Amino acid sequence: MNTTTWTDAHCHLQDPACLSEIESILDRATRNGIRRFVVNGTCPDDWERVASLADAHPAVLPHFGVHPWKVEGIREDWELLLRGYLYKYPQAGIGEIGLDSKLTSTPMDLQRKVFRRQWNLGRELHRPCTIHLIGAWAELHEELKQGAPSRFLLHSFGGSPEQVDVFAEQNAWFSFGGALLRTPASKKLRKAIQAVPGDRLLLETDSPFQHPQGYGHRQEPGNLLNIAETVARIRGVELDDLSKQTEDNLNRFLQTAD
Ligand SMILES: [Zn+2]
Repeated sequence: MNTTTWTDAHCHLQDPACLSEIESILDRATRNGIRRFVVNGTCPDDWERVASLADAHPAVLPHFGVHPWKVEGIREDWELLLRGYLYKYPQAGIGEIGLDSKLTSTPMDLQRKVFRRQWNLGRELHRPCTIHLIGAWAELHEELKQGAPSRFLLHSFGGSPEQVDVFAEQNAWFSFGGALLRTPASKKLRKAIQAVPGDRLLLETDSPFQHPQGYGHRQEPGNLLNIAETVARIRGVELDDLSKQTEDNLNRFLQTAD
């Protein structure tokens, strides 16, 4: 029987695909030892759903933010609204924010404007930021030169082991998930997982996205245990030790006691 405990460091349980069956999803996860869920908002329209989930379930740890795919046409008062949620939830992080040069046609300068305002909010309010980064490595480096929040997570990390080293020096944390359930994981991904310092490693499902069978299939946090087993194998550590380490890491990332 599984006795280890885990936190899904990045998911979107506010998504209607999850929300309609939230009790059974949480129940299946809990049976697999997943006891906490960092739920990331993506735009002003879903922040209230994130907040309601956090109010109803102490296991839900909220993040509020604007995803790079949602910046175009965003309501003008979004930052004021975001501040409101961050003040109301003093333990909340900022996410999912990010930069994406591949999977969206949204101009990079517009993405960067919205990203920078949230990034600066992270610095001002001392909140961790969770980042979606696809392709825009150079742009993130430029943002980092101007300062960074004290903790930020590169979720679903897709870079090289060398990039792990560079970002780790700049206070980055790294989480891995969905891509690992596709078999076999690429050599680059396995090497990146091995390169992450033990105190910066987190695990995630990105539910309901990143199901190994792709679109039309709903990922859920209960599958985090499979991801954990895969990461433990790749790093050559015991599942128990990985559980303790990643739980401790999550507490430090959110600066929360558990
Ligand atoms: Zn996500």
